[in-house]
Amino acid sequence: DLVAPTPEQLLHTIFGYAARIANEKSLHRLLTLMADMGKDMIIADRCTIWLFDQEKQELWTTVAHGVRDIRMPARSGLVGHAIQKGKPLIIDDAYDSPHFNPKVDQQTGYRTKAMLVIPIKNSEDVVIGAYQAINKLNGKAVFTATDLAYLTLAASYSGKSLEAAMLHKEIEDTQREILFRMGEIGESRSKETGQHVKRVAEYSRLLALRYGLSEQGAELIQMASPMHDIGKVAIPDSILHKPSKLTAEEYDTMKSHTEIGYNLLNNSSRRLVRAAAIIAREHHEKWDGTGYPRGLCGEDIHIYGRITALADVFDALGSDRVYKKAWPIERILGLFREESGRHFDPSLVDVFLHHLDEFLAIRDRYRE
Ligand code: C2E
Ligand code: FE
Repeated sequence: DLVAPTPEQLLHTIFGYAARIANEKSLHRLLTLMADMGKDMIIADRCTIWLFDQEKQELWTTVAHGVRDIRMPARSGLVGHAIQKGKPLIIDDAYDSPHFNPKVDQQTGYRTKAMLVIPIKNSEDVVIGAYQAINKLNGKAVFTATDLAYLTLAASYSGKSLEAAMLHKEIEDTQREILFRMGEIGESRSKETGQHVKRVAEYSRLLALRYGLSEQGAELIQMASPMHDIGKVAIPDSILHKPSKLTAEEYDTMKSHTEIGYNLLNNSSRRLVRAAAIIAREHHEKWDGTGYPRGLCGEDIHIYGRITALADVFDALGSDRVYKKAWPIERILGLFREESGRHFDPSLVDVFLHHLDEFLAIRDRYRE
């Protein structure tokens, strides 16, 4: 299957990807699709889509299976060179070029030889990134003018989708930041750091995914869960900052943060804000019906509420509060085992205990 594709096969490849590329709003998934399409069209060993970050003067890309982005200075290497010039590059052996930066090879042990770089332009003809293909796998192991033509086709075809996805990401990043900041308002009043809302967001996303919700559902709960305690803005400092146990009356006031948060968010028609409203209202409900504000039971509690409840308590127990010290992990696990089917949805507790290492990794990543 390493023979050059016939025109029919090529058309087949393009049509196979075209619809998916046109409809893909997630930048990460789009980059993966584009890289796969490029690889299939010209039979390259590796294919990467680099994006140009004007503000930071960097090139960056997301990696298929990693969590983090890779970034490098915009002027570095052959990709940087092609982007600066706005022209494609065909190179038989990268090591013969003065612009090649062998650092990545040195780190990975990979040997880059043939390389093809095609700048990707937006609708205004401004370069927004580049297609990079490395190491031709068939023929003479060098890229040809035909490969260049094919990859140029792929680049021009997907340029618009790429621009749309980047815009979409910009809007989503902005939304996410506003939600975090609103969440922090609730938290900063109660003297918890912004890290608390970030951790709860990450725990909620992970729980949602491992429980079996869709990627989209998990993203929604990740973005909405930072707002769970927004209602605390209306709770007096004397209660919020009390360094000891609350009286029954104070605790009743405290409990109203759920309905207050719900009322702040409820009358929106936005999916995200509606999810946040549900979470604000239901994150203190308990599986056995003894929670508040409504004493809902079992699956009458929305899955978003059940998930955030577990995430919130896991983080609250593991952190110092004005009224208590952080618990050691064994004690926390003990509580979750005990409260499975009481406070918490038992299937969520199972998921949580089963993937505990991943939750602890998040805890380490977002330390105070
Ligand atoms: P929070 O501090 O973010 O705690 C969230 C939830 O984590 C609590 O919901 C509870 O389910 C769990 N949690 C936290 N610390 C402990 C603990 O030491 N033991 C156990 N078993 N569970 C714990 P809850 O109880 O409905 O409280 C809601 C909010 O009310 C708390 O948010 C906190 O802001 C406030 N609060 C609760 N108890 C006290 C208290 O004794 N003193 C003060 N100053 N505030 C309190
Ligand atoms: Fe709360």
